[in-house]
Amino acid sequence: MSAPAVPSPPTPRAAVAALPGYVAGRRASSSETAALASNESHEPPLPEVLAAIAAQAGRVNRYPDMAAVELRAALARHVGLEPDRIAVGAGSVSVLQQVITAFCDAGDEVVFAWRSFEAYPILAAVAGARAVRVPLLADESHDLPGMLAAITGRTRVVLLCSPNNPTGVPLSTDQVRSFLAAVPAGVLVVLDEAYVEYTADPAGTGSLALLAEHPNLCLLRTLSKAYGLAGLRVGYAIAGAGVAEALRRTAVPFGVSGVAQAAAIAALGARAVVQERAGRVVAERTRLVRAIRDHGWETPDTTANFIWLRAGDDLLAELMAAFDEADILVRGYAGDGVRISIADPASNDLVLAVLAARDRFGAQR
Ligand SMILES: *Cc1c(COP(=O)(O)O)cnc(C)c1O
Repeated sequence: MSAPAVPSPPTPRAAVAALPGYVAGRRASSSETAALASNESHEPPLPEVLAAIAAQAGRVNRYPDMAAVELRAALARHVGLEPDRIAVGAGSVSVLQQVITAFCDAGDEVVFAWRSFEAYPILAAVAGARAVRVPLLADESHDLPGMLAAITGRTRVVLLCSPNNPTGVPLSTDQVRSFLAAVPAGVLVVLDEAYVEYTADPAGTGSLALLAEHPNLCLLRTLSKAYGLAGLRVGYAIAGAGVAEALRRTAVPFGVSGVAQAAAIAALGARAVVQERAGRVVAERTRLVRAIRDHGWETPDTTANFIWLRAGDDLLAELMAAFDEADILVRGYAGDGVRISIADPASNDLVLAVLAARDRFGAQR
């Protein structure tokens, strides 16, 4: 007697089977490891954030406020707009998923620069949308004319990342304004500003002004980076009221926990301290970029809390091995280069020590 045929298990959609899988930054192997792979704040949580978390801990038997009313009010005050213009999610990656879910049917197109944030092609594929990648220019900036040319009748969303992760190169407000002027009004333009606090316009007043001119603009911001809440997952969109409402509808219910909401409100209240901390990273950035160039490396002018070294696969392997040996976690991108977060002066000095040995390494291009 033959064994009964084993029925085959359910198979995921082809688009899911084809996903690369999100590669998170490697975890530090010890407290000595310099964790420079995920662009987190290297500073400990603010005391008012810890107090807010402690105060909420006794309430975790309750669901959080699904509409995140207080948090949205705090964010609205933070950016000087009404709360109906704000949608929140469990990190801005989650908010971006809400965007794509709200605006893309299967087969619709999402246009973005490449290389950029790894989550973009994954979120597009999960939604059944088509990811359209437009290569960066040689100076590591967005090819805006190329992106405009890539827009078709199927394009529903265009993603701009400023400063771009992983290259650090920003788009100016004027560049975004001209771009918006040329994009069809029915295409949503998402400007991902995860690192805005490290730029020359840390409140993002330039892009906030563009919102008034362009109802098809959606700004994406996060408390994961300068605000130091990467582990709690709070991101938000600032958009027209209709777009924001659509993002609230496509959110996972109760996606932002009560602990996260309270911590985010506390962090927003400490804006001045957060900005001071970001200012120290910016000062270190100036020092690092100068020193790295003095050592003979080519690196673009970054306005983020990380630096970028373009490297083909041979050089990338050499660099990754050297950083590994120095117990420094950095993020390598096959075929493209390595991204190194900027942290405290001591960690940054460790990075410089590796890169000072320029003649140990091959050519960049
Ligand atoms: C880190 C980062 C985010 C933020 O992700 P969260 O989900 O908010 O932690 C968004 N966009 C870019 C480009 C980033 O680098």
